[in-house]
Amino acid sequence: MAPVDPHSFTESTQPATTHLALTLYFDFPSSTIHASALFTLQTPHSGPFFLDTRSLTIHSALHADEAIPFSLSTTTDPIKGTLLTLTLSNHSSFILTFSTSPSSSALQWLLPPQTCNKTHPYVYTQCQAIHARSIFPSHDTPARRIRYSAILNIPSELSAVMAANHVTRRPPRDDDAAALASLNLNWCSQDRVVEEFVMEQPVPPYLFAFAVGQLGNREVGPRTRVYAEEGSAVLDSAAKEFEGTEEMIREGEKLFGEYDWERFDLLVLPPSFPYGGMENPKMVFLTPTVIKGDGSGAQVVAHELAHSWTGNLITNKTNEHFWLNEGFTTYAERRIVEAVQGEKRATLNVGIGWRGLNEEIERFKDNLEFTKLKNNQQGIDPDDVYSQVPYEKGFQFLFRIERQVGRSAFDEFLKKYIAKFKFQSIDTDTFLDFLKENIPGIEKQIDLVLWTEGTGIPSDAYEPELIVYKTIVSLANEAATGRMPGEDEVADWQGQEWELYLDNLPKSIEASQIVALDSRHKLSESKDYEVKVSFLQRAISCGCKEYYGEVERTLKAVGRMKYLRPLYTALVKGSEEDKVFAKRVFLEARECYHPIAQSVVVSIFSKHM
Ligand SMILES: [Zn+2]
Repeated sequence: MAPVDPHSFTESTQPATTHLALTLYFDFPSSTIHASALFTLQTPHSGPFFLDTRSLTIHSALHADEAIPFSLSTTTDPIKGTLLTLTLSNHSSFILTFSTSPSSSALQWLLPPQTCNKTHPYVYTQCQAIHARSIFPSHDTPARRIRYSAILNIPSELSAVMAANHVTRRPPRDDDAAALASLNLNWCSQDRVVEEFVMEQPVPPYLFAFAVGQLGNREVGPRTRVYAEEGSAVLDSAAKEFEGTEEMIREGEKLFGEYDWERFDLLVLPPSFPYGGMENPKMVFLTPTVIKGDGSGAQVVAHELAHSWTGNLITNKTNEHFWLNEGFTTYAERRIVEAVQGEKRATLNVGIGWRGLNEEIERFKDNLEFTKLKNNQQGIDPDDVYSQVPYEKGFQFLFRIERQVGRSAFDEFLKKYIAKFKFQSIDTDTFLDFLKENIPGIEKQIDLVLWTEGTGIPSDAYEPELIVYKTIVSLANEAATGRMPGEDEVADWQGQEWELYLDNLPKSIEASQIVALDSRHKLSESKDYEVKVSFLQRAISCGCKEYYGEVERTLKAVGRMKYLRPLYTALVKGSEEDKVFAKRVFLEARECYHPIAQSVVVSIFSKHM
């Protein structure tokens, strides 16, 4: 017996699931999904068969109406969840019926007041890293890929979208849900409708995704539609913000080869969405905070688009090799931004990333394991060690190789790499072997072991040199002597310039300077959350109480973890009064956060209080 992944009960000796046929009944009043799943296995199997679950109730396991013995483990692993064991007798397929719990860690159920249009409920998924198991029993590891079909039964005033191909919207039929008969659902009731989807490409379970709500859409390109809540202002502003998407897809294709997923649709979620974006195949999920009105949200779209190749086509085998997903994607994102928005913009991103990487190395100074690209996550919750390291150190590693071999040789290598490993899940060693095979002698020019297994930042990493980057950093350093940038110096600054400036302000800066900076440049009122949050974080560290009202409004308006983490962390590192403030705001806001974000805030509190 050998587990394939420290975050899953999946056994290497047991067959993979090749196809899953899901039937899902959405019960909004109880925040529950009642479901069945027909599993098809790669080979017939006898004996114990393990599946990952978390907070699921299993009703039955059947093969052609014959019951299959099953049991849930009596103890629940805090990270992996509850082990479901079936006892199979040469079975190659079976049907499970089960229900989710209202506390399912992948699902956020929103009441109408928590949505943008305030009139209809909404539910959406976030399965990365290991939350798919709280929706359906699964081999919830990126080492295993599945194809699936799904029938969603939802209230007829709502519509459903999935990271899959839409087949049809039609009235429910009795024979859709034979396996669910014993649950007495109102499957065929007049106020219900069925939406069918199919996913023909094999994907890791963390890329399973749906959203159900009152959704509308706008066409923005030949293979791109933008979806958001119907009737909300978000839909039009999103359509405008993302009108350049097709150009980016073409840049991605130049870099990596043909786009393999047919559609590249964008779903803009309510503000509680915990991430900037999630690269769900065919339909990327996005936070509304990326819509800034100046097209700069395109950077997040470029990132999620790049995942279509690196992450979704080639997937890290386990979360211990997460840099294979995120480092490559960050590299590709910057190449796309450079092609579409110019080198200056791309270099600013490198600068912001460099700053972020250095901060993360500091954050993990007592736990250097997580400054390694390839690291050991035995007994570690991937959400707890999520950081910029796999993104930015991974980027730096790939950029180091590019600088060594030259851009055109590296581009050729990237195309070969994608073609060789598409629809596979691989680890760091597989990548390194392929690198050495295709760029002979590279290990003599770059210390590959230091880069992938060493801690901290290797000395041959690249600190951005572009004039604009250096000017901003030195302006920030001058704040130590009391000098603030003048109107003329910041006239052409966008959000990223301000972010870089704020991130580089010296720690010694005084409260009065923070206030002066804000009264001149109105940063606390910025519509750009990156700027606003960078500023508020500084204001908290300096103890500027006049901004706590804005801190509270921000923490209650958005649930993106990129903003929750620094604001709550700054508060809990502050005075007793700050800690009390943080606790009160969290208590009042937590219902509006996705379960993943809630548990991240809880872990920040437990670390510092
Ligand atoms: Zn990513």
